[in-house]
Amino acid sequence: MSAERAPAGAKIFCVANQKGGVGKTTTTVNLAAGLAKVGQRVLMIDLDPQGNATMGSGVDKRKLKLTIYDVLLESASIAEARVHSDKCGYDVLGANRELAGAEVELVEVERRDQRLKLAIAAAAADYDFVLIDCPPSLSMLTLNGLCCAHGVIVPMQCEYFALEGLTDLVNTIKQVHANMNKDLQIIGLLRVMFDPRITLQQQVSDQLKSHFGEKVFNTVIPRNVRLAEAPSYGLPGVVFDPAARGSMAYVEFAQEMVERIHKM
Ligand code: ATP
Ligand code: MG
Repeated sequence: MSAERAPAGAKIFCVANQKGGVGKTTTTVNLAAGLAKVGQRVLMIDLDPQGNATMGSGVDKRKLKLTIYDVLLESASIAEARVHSDKCGYDVLGANRELAGAEVELVEVERRDQRLKLAIAAAAADYDFVLIDCPPSLSMLTLNGLCCAHGVIVPMQCEYFALEGLTDLVNTIKQVHANMNKDLQIIGLLRVMFDPRITLQQQVSDQLKSHFGEKVFNTVIPRNVRLAEAPSYGLPGVVFDPAARGSMAYVEFAQEMVERIHKM
């Protein structure tokens, strides 16, 4: 399969939601694999000290010599620190526990929220998409992601409290947009782990659509156990079991993203 190249350099997206366990990492690695599958050149950046997106892309976080930590502290470039995941078809700028220290070490540094932006600028020509897996917080790390992105992809489960948590994220994005990054916008809300048999999920989904309209992606990611099993094999579901319902949904989402960026 092939697809048109993205217009004018890489489009950069953060996958963010300060709520834990909502499907950020699953979305990042499966979207990366889905985009690679439809012919896009992708860099996946793990901005979470948990390193789940790194491991879930078949890269052993404990064996990495250089990581996003070195890039943020300007002791390595992305070109030096990235590795290629052959199985997944995309490049990985990995993370491990060391990254937790960056928050403190960057406190003293000038323009500390712009570190990632500068680093990506030097590598952007190599890619159509850069996807950033953010940690479950609105920390300095997430801020670095938001400062360099064109848009935010917000994965969310259609549960009652999901809407409440969204207010904080939307406000943070507005602030970053106003003060630090004029390009930043919410690209869309992605409904994940969706189970249409649960009435509440249908109701929240309808509420989301009436409130956010076009900002809700058409693609819906179903709850699918194959997506949850894949990380233990060090693979995104899209690679581990391409025929699974969840995997097919993520490839469909990748196609929707390609269409969206041509309209940006
Ligand atoms: P954290 O906030 O800790 O970084 P996260 O937002 O990145 O978490 P994930 O790690 O992607 O969330 O997902 C949380 C759990 O839900 C994982 O065990 C994952 O395998 C599972 N999961 C994610 N999406 C699906 C899905 N569509 N169907 C079934 N299980 C899923
Ligand atoms: Mg995660």
